[in-house]
Amino acid sequence: MNECRWGGGGKWGGGGWGGDGGEGPSHAGDRGEGTGATRLQVGWGGGSWRAGAGAGGAGVFPALPAPGCREHPLPAPPAPPARPVTTSSPPPHPGPLPPARCRGHGSGGGYKRRRRRVRGPGRLLQQRPRRTMAHHHWGYGPGNGPEHWHEAFPIARGARQSPVEIHSASARYDPTLQPLTISYDPTTSKRVVNNGHAFNVEFEDSADRSVLKGGPLSGTYRLIQFHFHWGSCDDKGSEHTVDGVKYAAELHLVHWNTKYGKFGEAVKHPDGLAVLGVFLKVGNARPGLQKVIDVLESIKTKGKETVFTNFDPTGLLPASRDFWTYPGSLTTPPLLECVTWIVLREPITLSSEQMSKLRCLYFNCEGETPCKMVDNWRPCQPLKNREIRASFQ
Ligand SMILES: [Zn+2]
Repeated sequence: MNECRWGGGGKWGGGGWGGDGGEGPSHAGDRGEGTGATRLQVGWGGGSWRAGAGAGGAGVFPALPAPGCREHPLPAPPAPPARPVTTSSPPPHPGPLPPARCRGHGSGGGYKRRRRRVRGPGRLLQQRPRRTMAHHHWGYGPGNGPEHWHEAFPIARGARQSPVEIHSASARYDPTLQPLTISYDPTTSKRVVNNGHAFNVEFEDSADRSVLKGGPLSGTYRLIQFHFHWGSCDDKGSEHTVDGVKYAAELHLVHWNTKYGKFGEAVKHPDGLAVLGVFLKVGNARPGLQKVIDVLESIKTKGKETVFTNFDPTGLLPASRDFWTYPGSLTTPPLLECVTWIVLREPITLSSEQMSKLRCLYFNCEGETPCKMVDNWRPCQPLKNREIRASFQ
């Protein structure tokens, strides 16, 4: 049993999301180049989405916490409602939680089940506090996981959410789909960051150097980052499923449509992003993945980042370019419905040793209660009025 299986994460209000999907981990997010003036920022702020230039962003994740997370302390318990002080009632709030919980990762168990116990006359004034997602973090735990995301991100129940189950017999072969053109320049890889939901490998995207074209896409999409989702054991971990089968992990290569000029603008449009999904199953080692595996030791906890240069993501792709495609969303908050999904049919393999090193990362910041980064995947969402097309017969 996991001592703490709840996923950790960026605060709603922290503006940090890593798009894909997250992602807002979790997957896509915001993005910036070297100087603050050129950073884009997309974040949840005061109940509405904002996008624009902002200082202080840290690449794909705006306002990335410094190592040690001084800027993202554990969430304080919500302030009690203002009420008159009476001598007959105990203090209206039970005070801070014991520090040993993994509550920084959104267990919900720390907040959601707490109730104020008021005895005596004050009992009539007792309220059951509503501890919803908006009060702390999204993550992957029972109190803040995918079943709760709609509370702060109503689009979670929208018309084109991801991931979905791919029922292969129901996918329609579309002979008009073009071949994929995948062209990655290894010199564009820059950095790797543990964002508390997953880790992102980020790319320089100020020019058309690492790009995705063709398939269902019109125009050119630039690679901004890639990340993975994975399980606590080998029989789960992918987000998309194929005929009910879950893979051990899923790679998401996140690209944005250059016609929108910047990532933060692209996510506002239904054709803003293209995410290339690749399934991973345990088998032979993947040599092209090892450089990623080896860097994880230096970004074990949330907020850690390090340089990661000269990496070619082409080494993470299977031989076949057969794919399924459908219109969908980021799979992490803010769950924006801006993604053209391109999911490759052929999985790649990684060794069990490589897989186990993914599971050695942590959702938590350094110095917090250890909480292994596993099961950072969203379950399949209703297909609703969508069709999945296949590039192959
Ligand atoms: Zn993703």
